Amino acid sequence: MSTTHQPAISNEQALAFDKEHIWHPYASLIDPSPSYLVESANGVYINLALPNGEQQAVIDGMSSWWCALHGYNHPVLNQAIIDQSQSMAHVMFGGLTHKPAIDLCRTLVEITPAGLNKVFLADSGSVAVEVAIKMALQFWQSQGRGEKSQLLSLRNGYHGDTLGAMSVCDPVNGMHHLFKDSLQTHLFTEAPSCAFNEPCDSSAISDLHKLLSENHQNLAALILEPIVQGAGGMRFYSPDYLKQARALCSKFDVLLIADEIATGFARTGKLFACEHADISPDILCLGKALTGGYMTLAATLCSDKVSDGICKGEAGVFMHGPTFMGNPLACAVANASLNILLQSDWENNIARIEQGLLDGLAPCSDLDAVANVRVLGAIGVIEMKEAVTMADIQALFIEHGIWLRPFGKLVYTMPPFVISDEELSQLTTAICSSLSHYVSK
Ligand SMILES: *Cc1c(COP(=O)(O)O)cnc(C)c1O
Repeated sequence: MSTTHQPAISNEQALAFDKEHIWHPYASLIDPSPSYLVESANGVYINLALPNGEQQAVIDGMSSWWCALHGYNHPVLNQAIIDQSQSMAHVMFGGLTHKPAIDLCRTLVEITPAGLNKVFLADSGSVAVEVAIKMALQFWQSQGRGEKSQLLSLRNGYHGDTLGAMSVCDPVNGMHHLFKDSLQTHLFTEAPSCAFNEPCDSSAISDLHKLLSENHQNLAALILEPIVQGAGGMRFYSPDYLKQARALCSKFDVLLIADEIATGFARTGKLFACEHADISPDILCLGKALTGGYMTLAATLCSDKVSDGICKGEAGVFMHGPTFMGNPLACAVANASLNILLQSDWENNIARIEQGLLDGLAPCSDLDAVANVRVLGAIGVIEMKEAVTMADIQALFIEHGIWLRPFGKLVYTMPPFVISDEELSQLTTAICSSLSHYVSK
């Protein structure tokens, strides 16, 4: 039985419709870059139907943008969705509650850094960031300190694409000028200059210190991605910086929002990147890998101090409530994904992937066009001296049997945790040989 209203069309016709009518991320509809048709995905492989009529399996080096921890078509995750769909796919969360959401929140409270006891379930990472910002604003308003309404953020940060989240992204690569009349203007401090394995002396923290000491009266929160700045530059920075930032926020009475939407769930070698510095933020955003890449779901956790502050204030309630809040299908698959992760020997597994990336990407450093190769946990980054042309380099990657989506000068990979040693070596070998073909063209 057909499950769509539409008569079947050829792959060619389907792609032609896509090109003409469907927005893709950060895309043009006048001069779109190519989209590849995916027929299925299994394990670490995405199965493409190529325009020449052939099929090709490519190793997904992106985990579908940090999400697909356990690979595709995972029998346990599939079953979690099937089982949940047979009791209820969705019910509203206003006035109703359910075990899938309760179990998920029990786990999140247990595994996240100490003190984060309250959970707000949101529908995507950007919404989780909006919720975090609103929590911080409502908190200060409740204390009679409504003038604390500005945010402080790090340059090279990325926090999502909705208006509030975008306003705390890097002002240059977040292209604030395009929206300058409608974006809230916030403060930005220099991106941390101390590398992951370096201490941070006072000069590296002085700009943050200065901005906090001069502006704390008007600042609601500092928002940052702990340890790894993702889409804003793929930079790894010192746990010492994070530790000092936490201390400064406490000193100046500014809330700390940690955006772990990319780093959460073991990607950096710790379950949460905050653990590298042994700190707890006041508010924590989670998303991406929360459901193992099956469905959209995110969460914003906060401390009792923040939730008490909000709820004892004038409004008495936290003013946010998405229609699909706590969606049972998403919670059920998140529970299954977290169970797989927490039952696994993830620490050794991430160390294995880290070593595989270090060994496998080392040859790329020999290329003249490469500025820097860096690895942390299950994240490998090759920074080129010049920006790459996405469509050209993507075609080369596919020829070499891998899927990556570089941006600007950054070619990077964060493979699914289930990748085998052999697949990892195929991935890294293919990255280095594609780059060497690319630069020699
Ligand atoms: C991806 C990302 C977001 C936005 O999440 P969406 O689900 O795309 O809205 C926010 N913050 C960070 C650090 C991210 O990596």
